[in-house]
Amino acid sequence: MTTSFHPPERTLMGPGPSDVNPRILEAMSRPTIGHLDPAFVGMMEEVKSMLQYAFQTSNALTMPVSAPGSAGMETCFTNLVEPGDKVIVCQNGVFGGRMKENVERCGGIAVMVETEWGRAVDIDAVEDALKANADAKIVAFVHAETSTGAQSDAKTLVELAHKHDCLTIVDAVTSLGGTPILVDEWGIDAIYSGTQKCLSCVPGLSPVSFGDRAIEVIQNRKTKVQSWFLDLNLVMGYWGSDGQRTYHHTAPVNTLYALHESLVLLQQEGLENAWQRHQHNHLALKAGLESMGLSLIVPEDERLPQLNAVSIPEGIDDAAVRLRLLNDYNLEIGAGLGPLGGKIWRIGLMGYASNSKNVMLCITALGSVLRDMGYEASLDDALDAAYRVLSR
Ligand SMILES: *Cc1c(COP(=O)(O)O)cnc(C)c1O
Repeated sequence: MTTSFHPPERTLMGPGPSDVNPRILEAMSRPTIGHLDPAFVGMMEEVKSMLQYAFQTSNALTMPVSAPGSAGMETCFTNLVEPGDKVIVCQNGVFGGRMKENVERCGGIAVMVETEWGRAVDIDAVEDALKANADAKIVAFVHAETSTGAQSDAKTLVELAHKHDCLTIVDAVTSLGGTPILVDEWGIDAIYSGTQKCLSCVPGLSPVSFGDRAIEVIQNRKTKVQSWFLDLNLVMGYWGSDGQRTYHHTAPVNTLYALHESLVLLQQEGLENAWQRHQHNHLALKAGLESMGLSLIVPEDERLPQLNAVSIPEGIDDAAVRLRLLNDYNLEIGAGLGPLGGKIWRIGLMGYASNSKNVMLCITALGSVLRDMGYEASLDDALDAAYRVLSR
């Protein structure tokens, strides 16, 4: 007979999911109530207002989509793109490619602006594309490219898009809670995130936020949104605060308790402190890795603190290292994707997992495994280098 499943106790330092704060797991185990229960509706209002804080926005349409980050992406594209619409899609990693898929499946035309993987989106190339495509309606880009560890200049890209009368769709799945993202100040029109990266919540929800200009476009569509589930015109009746909650789908009640708790934690820490913590731990990890002769592939001023893409040294077997980390240290780090497969490791320091203990664990574990494989590096020096940053 099959018995209960008890997962191993891992430390999650990959591209997500990240370690979940025990307080969040505890919140999730509380009794399930009805999704139209007044107590649940009250909790959802708190979730929405805490999401406004996390996104730094006063957008009324700020809520969690009942599905993972990819569904937040799809919500943005499917609601804003109509057949024949032209969208400038910036690609500097895996997720820009998914944006292209989304545009095309909505019947839109994706004008691709490619930037080398591991670099921030090339602003000049986007400007050229906007000049060459005066009829473009939207500019879409990934703020934090989890596949490469590069951070793009969202503020400048949004400014540029608006100068050319375009709306903006921003992927902030890995940014939210880990690195500054100022929706109102930067004027972002549509944005989506995920719960399992720097919010250190369980996977399965996608916080989104839409500004007035985006809502106007959605309300004035010529065609129906092709997806019934993600059609914001219908979803707004469910999440709306006008007290007229009507049944649309059954919200994932306990997962929303989890998000509520993770946002309480974020408020208690303070957004700026959370950003600083990510940066501090990133600098410590970087010091340790560099002391071992390892290097990050992204130029310093374009690096994400929550996702460190590390070059794999010559002659080292990528998969063997990751397997040993998992088996001997219960430590998960990520592999490279696409053209970076076998070339990099992706070490996440996201949310609850971004702490000094994990920095030291990762350096110790990776340094030990590499040494066993014949790679020469001093573990003492690496730990000392990380310690010097942590103790600042
Ligand atoms: C993880 C991720 C996604 C997809 O989120 P899921 O929750 O896995 O669906 C989208 N964009 C970026 C940049 C991501 O890191």
